[in-house]
Amino acid sequence: MSTSRVDGQWFREEDSSWAGYSVSLKIEEILFQGKSDFQDILVFKSTSFGVVLVLNGIIQCTERDERTYQEMIAHLPLNSHPNPQKVLVIGGGDGGVVREALKYKSVSSVVLCEIDQKVIDVCRKFLPSMASCLDDERVTIHVGDGIAYVKDHPGEFDVIITDAPDPIGMAEGLYQKAFYQDMKNALKSDGIMCCQGETTWFDLPLIKRMLKDCRSIFPRVAYAVGNTPTYVGGQMGYMLCSSDPKAKLVQPLRQYSDAELIKMNMQYYSPEIHVASFVLPFFIKKNLQEV
Ligand code: SAM
Repeated sequence: MSTSRVDGQWFREEDSSWAGYSVSLKIEEILFQGKSDFQDILVFKSTSFGVVLVLNGIIQCTERDERTYQEMIAHLPLNSHPNPQKVLVIGGGDGGVVREALKYKSVSSVVLCEIDQKVIDVCRKFLPSMASCLDDERVTIHVGDGIAYVKDHPGEFDVIITDAPDPIGMAEGLYQKAFYQDMKNALKSDGIMCCQGETTWFDLPLIKRMLKDCRSIFPRVAYAVGNTPTYVGGQMGYMLCSSDPKAKLVQPLRQYSDAELIKMNMQYYSPEIHVASFVLPFFIKKNLQEV
């Protein structure tokens, strides 16, 4: 349970899932504070990480380090798929993952299925570097529950990305075995999905369960980690699953040069990072081998 608070000039993120640990950012200005039908929403300008989006007391993204996460959760699956055309992003109302998916010329459509219209609205206003891509003609916005959406769209997508908050409340179902099965059904026969894989510092039991569930459904499953300083533990995991038993998830299909990465406005992801992100520190490797 989150007990995060604005404490004088500081935002302190605290939660019983990581008791005794907090992520704090110094506030320059509060830009928005309110409640939607689904959650508490806070947007503030920090002195060190730019504009910050907080949902239910948990930091979702900051202008300074959002690309570490958005690039990884998008390009790990997209650069593992030979010809991604139809992409579904579940959650992700800030637009960052959609922005990354649109970097592929082969991508003809991106559906964003976000449950909370208010998140989209505040991000359009305060985080345009992420949300302005939502006006792209290839993007369709569906405001609704991602769990119901995948059930209703069998065999439709090349890539599905679940950009979800932690598994609490309405997001809990996005971490369940039934949802992974519904995502597999919503993918084409060689489709790939990638979902938020939490942090190995605090969530190993959950990650092990997710891995076990995914392995029972998809023939190819791999787990990667990356660095995001404003997420708890400074780290984020990514669960990558393919319906194609021959998919080489840990090897990127396109070897972008540095010049191409600059042109794509990439900050964190590169073909080298793709490979390296699956090389896990020993305590993680050992734990996940036991699954
Ligand atoms: N990158 C963030 C992280 O991992 O901390 C998550 C980004 S945030 C924009 C995730 C979004 O998922 C929220 O805007 C939330 O409203 C949305 N969401 C939560 N449950 C959902 C559901 N069942 N269906 C669709 N969207 C959902």
